[in-house]
Amino acid sequence: MASNSSSISTSAKRLDGKVAVITGGASGIGAATAKLFVKNGAKVVILDVQDDLGRSLCNEIGSEQISYVHCDVTNETQVENAIDFAVSKHGKIDIMYNNAGIIGSMAPGITTTDYENLKKVFDINVFGAFLGAKHAARVMIPAKKGVILFTASVAGVVAGMSPHTYAASKHAVIGLSNNLCVELGQYGIRVNCISPHVVDTPLLTKFVGEIDKNKVDEAIMKSSNLKIEKLEANDVAIAAVYLASDEAKYISGLNLMIDGGYSKTNPLFP
Ligand code: NAD
Repeated sequence: MASNSSSISTSAKRLDGKVAVITGGASGIGAATAKLFVKNGAKVVILDVQDDLGRSLCNEIGSEQISYVHCDVTNETQVENAIDFAVSKHGKIDIMYNNAGIIGSMAPGITTTDYENLKKVFDINVFGAFLGAKHAARVMIPAKKGVILFTASVAGVVAGMSPHTYAASKHAVIGLSNNLCVELGQYGIRVNCISPHVVDTPLLTKFVGEIDKNKVDEAIMKSSNLKIEKLEANDVAIAAVYLASDEAKYISGLNLMIDGGYSKTNPLFP
């Protein structure tokens, strides 16, 4: 069951006593979230395939509260073992953040979309998120509590922002999140998605390639209603902390857009 109001934290440490697993936690949004989760009192296990980055993040945070496990989210045995590691180390999992993702090939058109690339993007972005949710639910259902989060994207809502493969994969993640919310609510498990606009991470660098970052910043600013220049990975992490905390106890089935209003922009009044 969701916690009652007496357990709501009024201190800055919103995740005291919680155990979180974050996929793609070695870089970008996942790394920013791992740091903020630890600051908020959570014990965090980050899963990734970039071992050096993952370990150096743990060293940088320098706390017993964080550990790294090599885990390719497309490999079910590795996902299963990583979840079991988190449970054996910390006794439970309260928060599963399925965040790992790739942009894939930048082929813009359907006729140039390569099937192998399509499969790879879906393998990581969709099936990897599915496996993370599956093995977290295996632990959370008997515990009758938990929070499952996904990083989708504005590209999973607004058409024409990214290659078809990436857009389709993020639409699928939002659909998976919604469907899980319906099944898992009876066990006190909340399921939510976070859909950021463009954030400056290594994934973005792959996306824009050689394009001048300043031009990207300018385009982002123009495309948000708020006209704020930059969306930072930490802004996404703040949303994840809230959704993972007991303060969000009645929030499930949400796709939280962090897009400065971009998805609601009226083209007549740009
Ligand atoms: P990033 O490249 O910095 O981080 C992604 C992490 O996922 C990397 O550490 C990478 O090693 C890991 N990863 C990739 N394949 C993996 C696999 N098979 N198994 C385990 N880990 C794997 O990029 P980011 O921008 O922080 O991306 C995080 C999430 O946010 C992704 O799902 C991405 O689609 C989403 N997103 C990013 C943006 C953006 O503009 N950066 C916008 C919206 C959504």
